[in-house]
Amino acid sequence: MLCTSEQLNHRLVEARRLWLFLDYDGTLADFADTPEHVDPEPEVISVLTGLVQSPHLRTAVVSGRRLSHLRSLLGVPGLLLAGTYGIELQTPKGERINRVAYATIRPALDTLKPSWEHLIAGREGFFLEDKGWTLALHARFAEEDEAKEVLAAAHRLAVEAAHGGPFRLLGGHKFLEIGPRLAHKGHTVDYLLEHYPWPDALPIYVGDDDKDEEAFGVIKARGGIPILVAREPRHTQADCRLESPQAVRQWLGTLPSDGRG
Ligand SMILES: [Mg+2]
Repeated sequence: MLCTSEQLNHRLVEARRLWLFLDYDGTLADFADTPEHVDPEPEVISVLTGLVQSPHLRTAVVSGRRLSHLRSLLGVPGLLLAGTYGIELQTPKGERINRVAYATIRPALDTLKPSWEHLIAGREGFFLEDKGWTLALHARFAEEDEAKEVLAAAHRLAVEAAHGGPFRLLGGHKFLEIGPRLAHKGHTVDYLLEHYPWPDALPIYVGDDDKDEEAFGVIKARGGIPILVAREPRHTQADCRLESPQAVRQWLGTLPSDGRG
């Protein structure tokens, strides 16, 4: 269901506090041309700066990007940053937490990386992104049939390299990523709500893709509100849909910065 800011805020009048979990790409900001793009978006910064000043709001950005990217994109003190789907955290006070030991993850990725490189060598439209904690294979600019074939082969190689270890494979349209099993936005939201409890806070999650859907169920189970960002209606666990990052920023700008009701 498409929601207006007014309809959404109507559901929030009873809440004294809001715990906001926000995805970045496609949710707060429009998609960048490449995942390496790390220029801050002034409109995003200005909205988040308003949110962190309110004692009634707590704001976390939960993204597949690595934490170092989020830090470059979002230099707003007081935000909780969850990079690599929540594997790498930075608390509002600036403390860093790795939820998984890097040394348990990296050897398998180091084994896999050259075989993925070999697989895409000489092919058009593919690129490999080494995110440290994860490896991602993008086929966005490749031909449909070739993308399918190459991603299927990449999947087999990844299963081999993971060798039953603590990994998960994340698929997507013309996309494959391997990373720690805990690289899961649903687990991350659970972890944050458990480790940073905030009594009476209503959790809200805003996101645009299948990795966000994994958090929608968790938010619902905890009585919160999942919000999908999408131009068109689609099958989702979210209660409500906003049409674009611009609509998200506009709504966030209407949240009260001082006392409620
Ligand atoms: Mg997104």
